[in-house]
Amino acid sequence: MVLILAAWLVLTANWPLWLMLGHLDGYSGSTSWLAAIFGPLAFAGLTLLLSFSAWPRGMKAVWMLVMVLAAAGQYFMLGYGTVIDKSMVLNVFQTDLHESADLFNPRLIAELLLVAGVPGLWLAQVPVVRDGVWRNLARTLGLMLASLAVMAAVVLPSYRELAPLVRNNMSLRFMLNPANSVLAVLDAKVKPLFKHPKPFVSITAGAALGPSYVQAASAAGAGKTPLFVLVVGETGRGDHYALNGYGRDTNPELARLPVLSWHQARSCGTNTLASVPCMFSHLGKSGFESRSADYDNLLDVLQAAGLGVIWVDNQAGCKGVCERVPNFSTADRAETPAGRTLCSEGECLDEILLDGLDERIAQLPSEQRRHGVVVVLHEMGSHGPAYFRRSSPETKAFKPECTTNALADCAHEQLVNVYDNSIRYNDHVLARTIAWLQQHEGQHDVGMLYLSDHGESLGEYGIYLHGLPYAMAPEEQKHIAFIDWPGTLAARTHVDAACLGRTLDAPVTHDNLYHTVLGLMDVRSPTYRPALDAFGACRKAA
Ligand SMILES: [Zn+2]
Repeated sequence: MVLILAAWLVLTANWPLWLMLGHLDGYSGSTSWLAAIFGPLAFAGLTLLLSFSAWPRGMKAVWMLVMVLAAAGQYFMLGYGTVIDKSMVLNVFQTDLHESADLFNPRLIAELLLVAGVPGLWLAQVPVVRDGVWRNLARTLGLMLASLAVMAAVVLPSYRELAPLVRNNMSLRFMLNPANSVLAVLDAKVKPLFKHPKPFVSITAGAALGPSYVQAASAAGAGKTPLFVLVVGETGRGDHYALNGYGRDTNPELARLPVLSWHQARSCGTNTLASVPCMFSHLGKSGFESRSADYDNLLDVLQAAGLGVIWVDNQAGCKGVCERVPNFSTADRAETPAGRTLCSEGECLDEILLDGLDERIAQLPSEQRRHGVVVVLHEMGSHGPAYFRRSSPETKAFKPECTTNALADCAHEQLVNVYDNSIRYNDHVLARTIAWLQQHEGQHDVGMLYLSDHGESLGEYGIYLHGLPYAMAPEEQKHIAFIDWPGTLAARTHVDAACLGRTLDAPVTHDNLYHTVLGLMDVRSPTYRPALDAFGACRKAA
């Protein structure tokens, strides 16, 4: 049964691998040589994988699960040009029901019926002959050793040709379906069980409000307090912002406002779960990825300094970043008048983030509000693949747009249209956020900063969505939007907006966020590094 199922998986569930062998980077040799290597390798690898579960009881259920994994894995690899790795699995476990529903479509069902349904019918009726424990064990061990022997016999003689091939085509390592899913689940979910939890290290000691707060308070009771909105965008690729030189009018509203857009901004990760905790960390990308402890983040330090901090989420949660500050989900606005127009099927357009925001802030302790408030708005942004749900009818300027989540079914032009409509809608959301801030200029020094969490592939190189391992991800997934509206807040810490305007071609990354916000809010902390403050060079001495 193991041999039959392995052969079935090789033939029906590994088309992404077979198709990829047809155009490998840096390889011009014969494809039949590749087939002679990868065919037996895949068969032996899958035999090895299945033989682990070749025990007398319950194996039919386990194998059915493997077949379903294989069908789903192939659907995502073929449909979106993605690979299945640990971070993809972590994302799956962090995704909410509405996000998963966005991914569901008839092609997935067809894939399930073919790849899993056919062997399912066979498995259901094939009789299982039960042997003694020792005989079963001996046969399974024999199967495993034979698989390993076949793999060694194939790989060792051609290692010299294979090694550079795999190095030039890193995604090959994630292509054997469903071994990729099984290994990724083990890596993401089982391995941590055997690891000690990371210690938690607090970095809030020494956090304090800077001199601007004392000056404001002493200004004969007329001192304004800061009100800063940090918008965490979703899937906003930088090169599709007109502000960054994109050839279509995706920023009609922001273009009329004094905003600053950094053209060369890069993300920490290529998916939400990798990027969001990283961008709020003081460690930066490399420090965050190699950390041996967990730390407080930017929001904890702002709160410890005495500011009011709230997180409002219009997505699948804050990935742990808002754990220690007051946080809200926009789900509680679904029945307000605004909610009834902005929300449907459990998802809301991002303008919902502003609905009732004043009331949310009013719930903060007055002791904190007396100093100032930082609001984080976590957007749904351009979350795919159901892009058509990410813009309002008024902002759908580019037509025709792709109205399915099976992106490979849409013409490239329709896909770009529907994505650009979501950027144009985000332009409207950011402009409305600025308008909301302007209503508070009487009592507050106001400002806004917008950063997206990562970019998106729109079919370039046959790749869709995002989440490829950083080292092999294309630019489109790493180039993000990074836009500041200085308002009246930047001047509070003597930032010269005209000077900032001359830095827009400088490279900035998520590493800059932590230090830039501390500088902008005039919050002192031993963790603050002036060199990473993107506004630091344009701050005049008080
Ligand atoms: Zn994201």
